[in-house]
Amino acid sequence: MVVGDVTISRMAATQLALDLAVTIRHDGHGGVADDLADREGLAVWVRERAALLDCDGPPVTVDETLHTAVRELRAAVRSLFARAVRPGPPSSADAHRLLPEAEAIRRLNAAAALVPTVPRLSWEPDARPTLRLRPAGTPPAADRIVAALARAALTFLDGPDRALLRACPAPRCVRYFVKDHARQEWCTPSCGNRARVARHHERRREAQGDAP
Ligand SMILES: [Zn+2]
Repeated sequence: MVVGDVTISRMAATQLALDLAVTIRHDGHGGVADDLADREGLAVWVRERAALLDCDGPPVTVDETLHTAVRELRAAVRSLFARAVRPGPPSSADAHRLLPEAEAIRRLNAAAALVPTVPRLSWEPDARPTLRLRPAGTPPAADRIVAALARAALTFLDGPDRALLRACPAPRCVRYFVKDHARQEWCTPSCGNRARVARHHERRREAQGDAP
C-alpha cells in the first residue's frame, strides 16, 4: 500500500472543510438535504476528493463505521463553524442541535490523531529543501479519510480564513461560506437575488400595511 504525503495547504484545507460542511444544504423546496445521508452518497463524495483525502488508490469501501465517523466529524465541524461566525447567527439547518464546543473540539482532535504524522525532509539538487508530512505506519483507508478531514478542519479553524466564514443569511439557505471579498453578503449570486426579492416583497407588504 502506498501511503502518501498528507501535507495540506491552507487553501485546500479551507476547501475540504467547507465541502464537508455544505453536504448539508437547502434542497430547493424549503427543506434541508444531506449529501451524506447514506453510505452510497459518502462513497461518491469520497471518490470525488480522493487525492485530498489521502485515499488515491483502490476505491474505499464505505462501511457503517466510516459513515458514522464522517457524519460525527461533520457535526463537530458545523458546531465549531457556528462558534466561528459569532456574533452572526449560525446556519439554521442545525442551530437547534449543536454539540457542546468542548465535545466538538475533542472529536476533531481525536479524529486527527487516528493517523499520526511524521515530518520528512527532501532536498533535490538545484531545489530548495521541502518539508512534508507523511503518515507514521500504514493506517487503514477509513482512518486516513477521517484524519484527513479532521486535519483540514483544524488547519482551517487555526488559519486566517476562519474570520471570513459566514452563514448565508438568504431565505432558506443553510450554507456556510468563506467571503471572497469584503462586501460579499451571500454564498452565491442566486442567494443574493433571492434575498433582494424577499426584502422587496417585505417592504411592499409593510407599505401596504401602513396604508390607511
Ligand atoms: Zn446562500
